[in-house]
This record gives sequence, C-alpha cells and structure tokens, in this order.
Amino acid sequence: MDCIFCDIIAGLIPSNPVYQDEDVIAINDINPQAPVHRLVIPKKHFADVTEIERAEDGALLATLFATASRLGRESGGGFRLVVNTGAEGGQTVDHAHIHVLSGRFMEWPPG
Ligand code: 5GP
Ligand code: ZN
Repeated sequence: MDCIFCDIIAGLIPSNPVYQDEDVIAINDINPQAPVHRLVIPKKHFADVTEIERAEDGALLATLFATASRLGRESGGGFRLVVNTGAEGGQTVDHAHIHVLSGRFMEWPPG
C-alpha cells in the first residue's frame, strides 16, 4: 500500500518522533501551521478516524486522544486538536491522525 505515514512508521522515511509507544507515534508536521504542530498517528493503518470507530477500537481512540491531549498540555499553553476527515473535511493523508496545534492564538471559527 502506498501510504506516507506507514512508510514513516516502518522507518522507510526518516522521522524524528517526539513520542512513540507500541500503538502510536507522534511526529512534527512537515508543513507546520503553528509554532507547535504535531501529528499523533496510530501505527496500524486506518484510512481515517471513522475506520477506527467502526472497528470499535475504543482503546486505540482513547490512546490517540490522550496522547494528543498530553502533547498539547506539554506545549505549555492553550492548544487545538484537529481531525480532518475525508476530502471535504480537509484530509490529505489517508492514514488517521490527530493534529496538535499550539503556540499562537487559534482563531474561531476556523476557515
Ligand atoms: P491532513 O490534511 O490529512 O489532515 O494532514 C496531513 C498532514 O500531514 C499535513 O499537515 C501535512 O503537512 C503532513 N505531512 C504530509 N506529508 C508528511 C511527511 O512526509 N512528513 C511529515 N512529518 N508530515 C507530513
Ligand atoms: Zn498508512
């Protein structure tokens, strides 16, 4: 399968993880939209978050959300978690992930 995040997880593309355990990896976004911009990614391939939900893998959803929350908290200020889902939802990489954005004021509503 042609998936950039699977290639990163497999080590085929070098990355500098800010965190990883057996289920998730967190990396810095290559095109940051804020001073802190991390991606929390399940190591197992799911096309988007609804695939994890439909697989009823609540433990993985909890791990992803808790990891994103902790990385946001450790950024030291307010933060925003984003899950773009589907092309209309702004998703460009079809491997589920949570964005952790911090270090600047987050406008609301988003664009
Ligand atoms: P999406 O638009 O799917 O919600 O977010 C995908 C994110 O992955 C984008 O913010 C994009 O900058 C990031 N991204 C795409 N390719 C790479 C890559 O090779 N390395 C890293 N670290 N981030 C990537
Ligand atoms: Zn993948």
